[in-house]
Amino acid sequence: MNLILFGPPAAGKGTQAKRLVDGRNMVQLSTGDMLRAAIASGSELGQRVSGIMQRGELVSDEIVIELIESRLPETEAAGGAIFDGFPRTLAQAEALDRMLAGRGAKIDLVIRLKVDDEALKKRIAGRFAESGRPDDNPESFVIRLNAYNTQTAPLLPYYQGQGKLVEVDGMGSMDAVAAGIDKALG
Ligand code: AMP
Repeated sequence: MNLILFGPPAAGKGTQAKRLVDGRNMVQLSTGDMLRAAIASGSELGQRVSGIMQRGELVSDEIVIELIESRLPETEAAGGAIFDGFPRTLAQAEALDRMLAGRGAKIDLVIRLKVDDEALKKRIAGRFAESGRPDDNPESFVIRLNAYNTQTAPLLPYYQGQGKLVEVDGMGSMDAVAAGIDKALG
């Protein structure tokens, strides 16, 4: 089963993805984690993306599509993939559908974690000091939220049109959100 965890920054996608990995033998594919690993390794890719990420802007479609493509084979050996933070643009979503179709696979479900902007800003305010992420600061967060609202949220009708979109209330506790996701997964 291939699943997309969809939602704004700080909605809890990463936390919930990790829980599903432990419980269901799936592979988490987080483009944010892959890009942070590239930066930490000092690679050429890392150097290219670090300023963009720090500002809170999206890196190019080409880069993240390539990163995902290179990891698809291992997801087939496992119980499928949890896409976390990918796709973030229509071009990425279309590329993902093409890449999966080429391997005889597809996205089965898109779970949207619904959290409103004001709640996110409050939630993240406490995280700025402790997270250690250079893009967890008020200025970059506004840009990340804006990127979500303008470039990523338009994917919702795309997946709704495919009949794959399920909404889960992301405002509750970690356990309450987890229960909502489990219910959506059936
Ligand atoms: P995340 O950890 O998912 O919040 O991603 C952190 C940052 O990595 C984002 O703000 C973007 O700069 C970059 N990034 C991660 N995934 C993508 C993606 N699918 N498309 C473009 N940029 C991405």
